Amino acid sequence: MKKQKICVIGDGLAGLMTALILSKSDIQIDLIFKNKKVKKIKDSRTTAISESNYLFLSRFFKNSELKIFYSCKNIDLYNEKSGQYQHFMNFNEQGKNLLHMVENKKLKNIILKNIKKKKNIEIIYGAVKKLDVEKSCILIKNKKLYYDLIALCLGRQSDIVLQLVGKRYIEDNSEEISFTGLVKHDKNIIKAKQYFLKEGPLAILPLDKNRFSFVWTLNRNYRKIKSQNIKKLVNQKLKSIIGSKTKISLEEPAGFPVSFKFNTNFVKKNSLVLGDSSYNVHPIAGQGFNLILRDIKKLSEFIIENQSLGLQIKDSMILDKFIRSRKPENFLYGLGINFTNRFFKHNKSTSLLKEMIFKDINKFKFLKKLSLKISDQGIFP
Ligand SMILES: Cc1cc2nc3c(=O)[nH]c(=O)nc-3n(C[C@H](O)[C@H](O)[C@H](O)COP(=O)(O)OP(=O)(O)OC[C@H]3O[C@@H](n4cnc5c(N)ncnc54)[C@H](O)[C@@H]3O)c2cc1C
Repeated sequence: MKKQKICVIGDGLAGLMTALILSKSDIQIDLIFKNKKVKKIKDSRTTAISESNYLFLSRFFKNSELKIFYSCKNIDLYNEKSGQYQHFMNFNEQGKNLLHMVENKKLKNIILKNIKKKKNIEIIYGAVKKLDVEKSCILIKNKKLYYDLIALCLGRQSDIVLQLVGKRYIEDNSEEISFTGLVKHDKNIIKAKQYFLKEGPLAILPLDKNRFSFVWTLNRNYRKIKSQNIKKLVNQKLKSIIGSKTKISLEEPAGFPVSFKFNTNFVKKNSLVLGDSSYNVHPIAGQGFNLILRDIKKLSEFIIENQSLGLQIKDSMILDKFIRSRKPENFLYGLGINFTNRFFKHNKSTSLLKEMIFKDINKFKFLKKLSLKISDQGIFP
């Protein structure tokens, strides 16, 4: 059988990780980057990776490379009540690691370093102009390239993805925007924290004891506010939370539009969409890339199984099986996260009910264990 060829388009976390994971098989992979060699990767986001996903990821990196992750054993939840922060829940699994924080740009750098060592991955620079689904081919720099499978990892906004999956999607878009950035401080903060504030949820993800990344999702009223004013607002809020005497230095926050969006279709013939191109979940639970990783893991399992049976990838059942195994979980997850976001939104009519729930919720050990398990391993592990 002639060597099979897969094309992965996109240099975000989804594209890079798909290429690296699939390189374990004996398949030739073309990885398409839109821009010519970028000297410095820019991505101000930090990703919190669950324990099981971290264990999976760590198989692809050297121990020394894993130093870019900061492991965290505690997550504290707070609700804002008349300007006070009520601590209502703590997650701690007998000293086990719950989350592993990593700056996206550092993660992308080590994935790229490992990709460059793989003999079966070729990086091709150039924007993909056209995708021919019927012929399973792409048009790049006026050249047609043919593949057994094409994975589109092109982020939230892409005309090529639109052409593949059409305009049918389920969406709940309240036009929120997530601001994120790094903060240096002189206080010893080693626990991850989530504050449900009246302006929107704010997460603190430690990167070491004197540095954390914040993610603050604000409602649509903040969309037009200038970034220096957002910086001022974040600064004030962080001081009110961690103490006005704490010295903090904050980098310019970057804003990302967020919503719950789920394409009804992810696959056409031998092409599929992965990552933010297929669905977007609210960052309140830090699950976007965690779900993507589970998708890529499953896809690679099906491809390797198919290969071990000596079968072709092209026109096989791989993509059908992949959709059947991952779509229900991703949809339920997205809905669950969306519900959580709505539940915690500041709302006078539900605040009394929330207070009652928060009073005792930390005592429900079963509930805590279940939510930890689901956020670590998914709904159908
Ligand atoms: C504020 C914030 C915090 C988050 N925190 C977490 C967290 O804690 N945990 C978690 O699991 N997830 C988190 N997420 C989600 C996670 O960051 C995303 O799901 C993930 O980064 C998406 O990666 P992606 O590769 O699909 O998309 P992107 O990062 O958007 O990458 C897509 C890439 O495709 C390229 N591209 C586009 N068009 C073309 C073309 N025609 N040809 C070639 N290339 C092209 C683009 O240049 C881009 O680099 C967070 C998200 C946000 C916004």
